[in-house]
Amino acid sequence: MYYRTVLVYHTLTLGRCQPGPATPRPAIGQHREKVAEPRARRPLSDLQRGCRRPNNPTRARLSRAKKGEDMLTAKQARVRDLFKAQRAHTHIVRLCEFGDRFVGTAGDRGAIGYVEGEFAKLGLDISRTPIKVPGFVDVETRLVVGGKAFEAVAAYYTPSTRAAGVTAEVVYAGTGEAQEYDGLDVRGKIVLIQERGLGYARFWLGTFAAEAARRGAVGMIVVHPMPWPYRMSIEAGNSKIENRFLAEQVPAVCVSAVAGQDIMWGLGRGGDAARATLTVRTEIPEVESLFLVGRSPGADPGLPAVLLEAHRDNGIAPGANDNASGSGVLLELARVLSGIEHQRDLYFVSSTAEEGVTQGAWSFVGQRKDDLIPNLKAMLNLDMIGVGGRLNLVEVGLWPDCDPIQHPEWLNVLLEEIAADMGYHLGRMTAEWGVAEEARYIAAGVPSAWFWKPDDPYYHSVYDTPDKIDGNSLKAVGDIAGAAAIFLADE
Ligand SMILES: [Zn+2]
Repeated sequence: MYYRTVLVYHTLTLGRCQPGPATPRPAIGQHREKVAEPRARRPLSDLQRGCRRPNNPTRARLSRAKKGEDMLTAKQARVRDLFKAQRAHTHIVRLCEFGDRFVGTAGDRGAIGYVEGEFAKLGLDISRTPIKVPGFVDVETRLVVGGKAFEAVAAYYTPSTRAAGVTAEVVYAGTGEAQEYDGLDVRGKIVLIQERGLGYARFWLGTFAAEAARRGAVGMIVVHPMPWPYRMSIEAGNSKIENRFLAEQVPAVCVSAVAGQDIMWGLGRGGDAARATLTVRTEIPEVESLFLVGRSPGADPGLPAVLLEAHRDNGIAPGANDNASGSGVLLELARVLSGIEHQRDLYFVSSTAEEGVTQGAWSFVGQRKDDLIPNLKAMLNLDMIGVGGRLNLVEVGLWPDCDPIQHPEWLNVLLEEIAADMGYHLGRMTAEWGVAEEARYIAAGVPSAWFWKPDDPYYHSVYDTPDKIDGNSLKAVGDIAGAAAIFLADE
């Protein structure tokens, strides 16, 4: 996942679902007509969705505690016994061996084959939903300043420079906001801007690249606060697909904090030391890929189902944490949960085109809006769960072009309580720069939650490798998500 975040402590809020229209009651003696449409297509009531929950898990849990009973059901304890971090980690290693898994690449196709093979081994009922989205090919990125070559990473979807590159003076433009350009002449020059915090406030480069273009600059270098560069995006960071790209952009690359110091030293000296040649060649072809869905049938497939999702694409290879980690846990959960009887169907979804503004999930939810989506009780998103500090649930997500995206309180409370019963802790947070996949489900009325550890220092860099993954974190997420899924699937 890809957003700057602010950690906030959770405050209990009341349920946010609006009550649906009341069903008219038949008069006494009047027979209710049998509805002919199949059960699986009937829209859910709020009660079925769980906005008004039939059972209060907190009360049930407290009464179990009072009676001195086990806090976990036998099936939840079974999930904890069966889920193995080592197995999830092995999936991560395998997925990373395919190289770049960006949507539509050869690595994506390899990963599809791998996930499908694992689903098939488990006897899941497999279906595919094709998607068509913009891909991205980084053909060539080179940066030379003062005669010295620096490691630079092109932002996704950045425009190219001319083939020979642009050669120009580099000008320091602070944080890259409009007021930083006061008194600066950047016409025909390359601007250098800085990310000054540990977050990702320059991840969505769109408005910054547009400001530079408006001022007449010909390129942009962004200095990352880490000792390595990372892959940003030239998108504007909006929810709506049509607001994805601004009209005017300059070609943009990222360099490390260490390279940034070197380059700024050159700017101080001036002359040739402050001149750069920036070469960026990218392609943005329309590509095809698919959402792979594995279904573990429940005893009563007519009931609203529970869905777990992880995106298999990466920002930059190998993408062990983002997001082979969620994919590895998804596959291990598919093994564990499909081996335990459950009432409702369980869906395991391997998604793609999350990188960017989750155009993949937008397309998938749109395509499945009449069959799968109206018949979901809950959705759990597993994204970036193997590296970093506190394990969190996202409470609210912010995108500039839409209302705050609230994650249903009842589902977060349920996950917290199950975590507590297992001896784990979950924090809460705000996703300040948008919401990954589940935003599209929430917009379609599906109660959804997102497990996320956002503070990964290797995020979107070539150092996001399997050796950085903390297997104990995979275990905690697997246990909690698995115990919640089996509880929801039986409720
Ligand atoms: Zn991700």
